[in-house]
This record gives sequence, C-alpha cells and structure tokens, in this order.
Amino acid sequence: MKEFKNFINGEFVTSASGKTFENRNPVDNSLLGQVHEAGEPEVAAAVAAAKAAMKGPWGKMTQAQRIALLDKVADRINERFDEFLDAECKDTGKPHKIASHIDIPRGAANFKAFSETLANHPTEAYKLDTPDGRGALNYGHRSPKGVIAVISPWNLPLLLMTWKVGPALACGNAVVVKPSEETPATATLLGEVMNECGVPEGVYNVVHGFGPDSAGAFLTAHPDVNAITFTGETRTGETIMRAASVGLRNISLECGGKNPGIVFADCDLDKAIEGTMRSAFVNCGQVCLGTERIYVERPIFDEFVARLKAGVEQLKLGVPEDASVDFGPLVSQEHKEKVLSYYRLAVEEGATVVTGGGVPEMGDALNAGAWVEPTIWTGLADDARVVNEEIFGPCCHIRPFDTEDEVIELANDTKYGLSAAIWTENSSRASRVAEAMDVGIAWVNSWFLRDLRTAFGGAKESGIGREGGVHGLEFYTELKNVCIKL
Ligand code: NAD
Repeated sequence: MKEFKNFINGEFVTSASGKTFENRNPVDNSLLGQVHEAGEPEVAAAVAAAKAAMKGPWGKMTQAQRIALLDKVADRINERFDEFLDAECKDTGKPHKIASHIDIPRGAANFKAFSETLANHPTEAYKLDTPDGRGALNYGHRSPKGVIAVISPWNLPLLLMTWKVGPALACGNAVVVKPSEETPATATLLGEVMNECGVPEGVYNVVHGFGPDSAGAFLTAHPDVNAITFTGETRTGETIMRAASVGLRNISLECGGKNPGIVFADCDLDKAIEGTMRSAFVNCGQVCLGTERIYVERPIFDEFVARLKAGVEQLKLGVPEDASVDFGPLVSQEHKEKVLSYYRLAVEEGATVVTGGGVPEMGDALNAGAWVEPTIWTGLADDARVVNEEIFGPCCHIRPFDTEDEVIELANDTKYGLSAAIWTENSSRASRVAEAMDVGIAWVNSWFLRDLRTAFGGAKESGIGREGGVHGLEFYTELKNVCIKL
C-alpha cells in the first residue's frame, strides 16, 4: 500500500496525530494508498522550515543560481516523466494521451518559463529634480515576499501547482504547498525531485489534508505566511480572503467560471466544432476555462448542434493507459454525485437532452469508477440554474442568438468572468466582441492557447489579481523604491 507523506524541510514525514485518509483511483474506485494528514504541528513546522530557508543558503543565492537550480528541476521532472504521468493519471483518471501532452510537460515547463521574464524585466528608474540642482535618483528594487502558501485544486494538479511554485521560487520565495486532498501524488513526488536537484531544505514543502479544520485552514491562518496564492472554487476563495485579511497578507485568487463559447455564422465551422469539443469536454469537462454555455448564431444553430452531438458520440471512454481513449472518469465519487445532480436538474428545468445525461456502462471492472456520459442540452431558460452555476463536468448547454449585441449581453450575464471563446472569421467583430467580454481571457478562434508571458486570471467572481509573465512579479515580489539624494 502506497503512503503519501508530508514533505517538510527536505524530509518525508507522517503526522503526530497519526491521522490518514484514503486516496482512491477514480477509474475503478480502487484504493491507491493512504495520505498522511498534516495537523497544526506539521503545518507550523513546514512554515518554520520555509521561513528558515529564506535566511539560509537559498536566501543568499543569486538569481542566476536559483534559475539554474529550477532548470534542473524541470529537467528532472522530464527525466522521471513516466512516474509523474502514472501518478497524475492514477489520481485523476485522465487519459495518458492528455496528461503526457499537457499536465506533465507544462508542469515541468513552469520551472523554466518564468526565468526569462525575470532576467529581462527592467525595474523603473526616475531622476528627480531638487532645489539644489543635484537631484535624486529613484529606482525600484524587488525582493521576495517570503513564505508563500500555495493552495491548489485537483483538475490539473501538477500544472496548476507548479504554475505558482515556479515563479514563487524563481523570485526567491520559499513555499508551503497544500495540494488537493483528491490528488496528493505529484506534489509529493516533486519533493523527491527537489532533493535530487539539491534545492535547499525548506524551500519547497508539502502539507496534505483538507480545507476547514485541516491543513488548508491551518496554513492560511498561519501568521508567518506572507502571501497566499489559491486556485479553486470561488466560495473557498472567499474563505481564504477572510483568512488573509488577518495581518493584511497579499492574495492571488484564481477561481471558478461559467464561460461562454460564442459561435457566429461567419465562423469556420470545422474549427468551431473542433474547438468546442475541446473547450467543453477535454479533461472530462474539468477545466476552469471550459465553456459550459455555448451561444450559436441562429442560421447555423441546428447544424452546430448536430455536428457537436456527432463528435461527442464518437468520444472513446476508457482507462488512462489505452492510447485510443479520449475521455476518462471524473475525479471522484463525490464529484460524480455533484455532476449527476446537475444532469437531473437539467431535466427538471426543462432541458432537451441532445446526448448523454447519464452514467455509461463501463463493464464490471470499471463500473464502480466515477464515470459520467458527456452531455449536451438545449432549450433551457436563461435563468436556469444549469445555465448559471459552474458544474465542472463534461457538459454544455447550447442556445441560439440573433444579434451581436444580444450575445454580448447573454455572455456577460453571469457573476463569473474567467474566459470566453469566440468563433468568427470577421476580424473587426472578433476584437469588438472580445473587448466587450467581462473576462480575464478572451480567445478568438482558439481555446486554452496559452503564452505563459501573458496575464492569466479572472474578472468578477472568477478571481483577484493576475499571474503569468511580468504580472507574476507583482505578486511574488515586494517592490521597494530606493531614493538616493545625489
Ligand atoms: P476547492 O476550492 O474545493 O479546493 C481547492 C483547494 O482549496 C484544495 O486544496 C482544498 O483542500 C483547499 N481548501 C478548501 N477549503 C479550504 C479552506 N477553508 N482553507 C484553505 N484551503 C481550503 O476547488 P476544487 O474542487 O479542488 O477545484 C475545482 C474548482 O477550481 C472549480 O471551481 C474551478 O473552476 C476552479 N479552478 C480555477 C482555475 C483558475 O485558474 N481560475 C483553475 C482550475 C480550477
């Protein structure tokens, strides 16, 4: 039986309380191992280790030395690629085909992507006139914030965690990571890699557990945590914001979404179908940027629905190791129950079920897994809960529209504001509609196409702050102005 231990000050440790919880494989609900739940003492030890690391060799390293170490970490993840792949796919159930192209390579790349930004970004400088004619020189100096708490979700465990840990460490901070209780494996494995690469003890720490009354709450409440970066649900973000308000700690929140896909009649329909297949169904619909509301201009509505249905019905469900599989289970039994409750609600709210809507027959070996059918609905009212609440499953509602103004209004009529995907071959319309979206990221004729130098984050209830490229510098460093009277 595998054990997932906390990683504190360069060592794998159990918990003083002896508390453990189960880690199960969503493919068949089999037991993968036991996770050691960090209590207050372990969280305190991890924060103390991170704080001490800032004063030790790590804090004294030059930027170039840190960047060289992080390059090694990226390379070592790639050398141990198959172990990371296996761990991620067992925790999440996602196909190897997806994780080997997205989760693991991008999880590793996050340790390299930020170095160039950091090396090339200038700090500001101003010469100030003074009455004596000699002036004063002002320049900006950035220093690490200190101990950063990283709280991450289960949908892209390694990728979303290193998206924060990479820049945090590149800027010279130390981190305490609280991975999702559903997906403890890759964060734990990364501890081994940190040791193998010679990253000093205490720089990267992992505490396992849940949110309330567990590792998550203990970590965010700890007074020696200088800033908290979180990805997860909006309601959890609010709780973390309250915790961060004590001691005025800085926060970065990347939260939920109910993102629109907008398909104009002048689009390239092949591209729009292919893109919407991904934006609604990849990773079993468990992508924060995914499109659960699709608006299609009326002249092509019927054809779009028929072609998306045909695409969905060709998706192959199966085990991660099967290279021909497109689609795995949801992450857990609990999440399956949540998604299925929305499948039932859609019918109660009057939806037409175009395809799916239930649980697939996977055979005796897999039926205990967290499988659901990819699902398309039409015919729901704009105020239906299914059209307004984030489901985070492989499903979407498709609704016709008639004018550009109408669809802008519909797309923005949500408390969320993470992303939008717009499909049109008219470039004036593309920029007009993209700029009218109340979101952090608007894609035109693409989806999830990420340049890591660009800003990432959400508007409205989808988050606070931006990470990525120079924007990460704002969060992961403290900017000081030095004023020298000449
Ligand atoms: P979640 O909010 O339930 O959990 C996220 C993390 O927060 C977990 O590690 C959890 O243990 C921890 N947590 C929960 N309660 C806590 C508390 N009180 N104090 C401290 N930590 C606490 O989210 P999830 O179910 O793991 O992930 C799915 C959600 O994440 C969806 O809403 C999705 O849209 C969102 N998400 C957003 C982005 C983005 O970039 N905006 C990316 C991926 C996922």
